[in-house]
Amino acid sequence: MNQAEASNWQTYGRLLKYAKPFWLAFSLAVVGNVIYAAASTGMAAAMEFVIQAIENPTPENRILITGMIVGVFALRGLGTFMSDYFIAYVGRHVVNALRNQVFQRMIALPSRYFDNNASGRLVSKLTFNVEQVSDATTKAVTIILREGLTIIGLLGFMIYTNWKLTLVFVAIGPLIGVVVNYASKRFRKISRRIQSSMGDITHISSEAITGYRVVRTFGGEAYEKKRFHDMADRVMKQGLKMASTQAIATPVVQVLVAIAIAALVWVMLSPEIRGGMTTGELVAFITAATTMAKPIRQVTSVHAKIQKGVAAAHDVFGTMDEEPERDDGTWAPKRVEGAINLENVCFRYQQQADDVLHNINLDIPAGQSVALVGRSGSGKSTLVSLLPRFYDYQSGEIRIDDHPVNDFQLAALRAQIALVTQNVVLFNDTIAANIAYGDLRDKPREEIEEAARKAHALEFIERMPNGLDTMVGDNGVMLSGGQRQRLAIARALLKDAPILILDEATSALDTESERYIQEALEEVMKGRTTLVIAHRLSTIEKADRILVMESGRIVEDGSHQELLAARGAYFQLHQMQFSEG
Ligand code: ATP
Ligand code: MG
Repeated sequence: MNQAEASNWQTYGRLLKYAKPFWLAFSLAVVGNVIYAAASTGMAAAMEFVIQAIENPTPENRILITGMIVGVFALRGLGTFMSDYFIAYVGRHVVNALRNQVFQRMIALPSRYFDNNASGRLVSKLTFNVEQVSDATTKAVTIILREGLTIIGLLGFMIYTNWKLTLVFVAIGPLIGVVVNYASKRFRKISRRIQSSMGDITHISSEAITGYRVVRTFGGEAYEKKRFHDMADRVMKQGLKMASTQAIATPVVQVLVAIAIAALVWVMLSPEIRGGMTTGELVAFITAATTMAKPIRQVTSVHAKIQKGVAAAHDVFGTMDEEPERDDGTWAPKRVEGAINLENVCFRYQQQADDVLHNINLDIPAGQSVALVGRSGSGKSTLVSLLPRFYDYQSGEIRIDDHPVNDFQLAALRAQIALVTQNVVLFNDTIAANIAYGDLRDKPREEIEEAARKAHALEFIERMPNGLDTMVGDNGVMLSGGQRQRLAIARALLKDAPILILDEATSALDTESERYIQEALEEVMKGRTTLVIAHRLSTIEKADRILVMESGRIVEDGSHQELLAARGAYFQLHQMQFSEG
């Protein structure tokens, strides 16, 4: 057994564990399949009586035969229903469990996982792949049970009727096996590739759809079209390959079965093998042998189905097995003072060769308001993202109230920090629910209103048709950039955390709203440690302290007046903006 097979068995085993709680439904499905197989065998065996009835049509025989036809089909129908329904019951429950677990894990994964995986691909894991697991495996299980049992039943009947003849038939079996094996191996490979290209289609199209404005204004249509076209082409070619393998496998297997039957008929007609078989028995035997063609064909395709399911399950389990964010700290204070201390902190993103932050040393006493300025890409957002531990730094130490951030329980650490990020994220819900998001959802209405007022959001909220209860649309499409920012600020204010981080929080605001927000922020900065990142220097002049970053280093540190007087980097930035503005 090679490694891939071993891991396949592991995957089966793991899937099986999910099905275990539903053993009762599964058993009922098995019973259904036994009924189905028995009825199918009964149909073949009944041929003997049909011939007898034709040769000797007495009234009793007529009643017997018509009753048998209806009875056998009704029985098979019952078997079909039981097996289909109960296996679906198991399958849907397994999908549900898998889906929930994958989602739960995704929610706990570290930032770098999301940096490395396109969102379309992640979404398709929850939709397409999970569905595929259940679809392929339930179909496979049904085929194995239903058709497998039918084959056993028919074979049993054949052996019982004439074992010599049966031997001839069985001799052809291994030949079929070889073909099946070859076909299924090709399948496995191709279906893996198809699955990953499907994710790419989702990714490319969702990018082009969400970014349609950029695509159109920058003339990206041709590029996007080509990208999509190439990817769709690949999926089509893979699909064709899969179809061709399937299309070849089926007829080849069927022809082999036909050859087996022909040999069977030929041998059958020799007197020493036929023995004392009546015409009825002979017809029943042939019926059984031909009836087996379909189950055999199905069983030969089952391997491909299983492979499809296993490939999908592999992927799903892969996501489940991703390491969640490290959370082994135990320190869980109710509310910190908010003193922040960085000592020789170095950081780089996983895939990078160079440090993004070099030896940062910084001491921020509780309650201070600190502004971070510097060129784009100098590492401002990166620096603040280390505080809530979105990333783990490589060396040095970050402390809050003299406790290393790694000693905190993650939830407790993040509860201390209110963050307004550069990209405001809104959920497709009401304005109130967007402000009072997550842990804040039980906040009273008055507090939500108060936060909105302080963030100068209430003025536009009140003009909306349903006020705070207005739906904002998918990621807040109904709102302007500045309105979105004000909602994000309101959310942060409502949180009332000892540490407040504002990353370009006022960049989308006009000068007037900005002035209001500025005043509001001055209010809320009181009594908490605040880190403000801003490009527009006018917004941070009143900060207690300004840090200038350059290529991952803090190059200047002081108040607005001090830094201007020093005539260094800050002075230059200031001059530049002054001459622009
Ligand atoms: P801006 O003012 O434009 O927001 P910034 O000072 O906030 O810039 P950062 O976002 O901290 O800059 O980025 C610092 C560097 O880290 C940049 O060179 C950027 O390319 C890189 N970087 C940022 N985010 C990631 C990420 N998730 N993965 C890899 N590299 C990143
Ligand atoms: Mg930034």
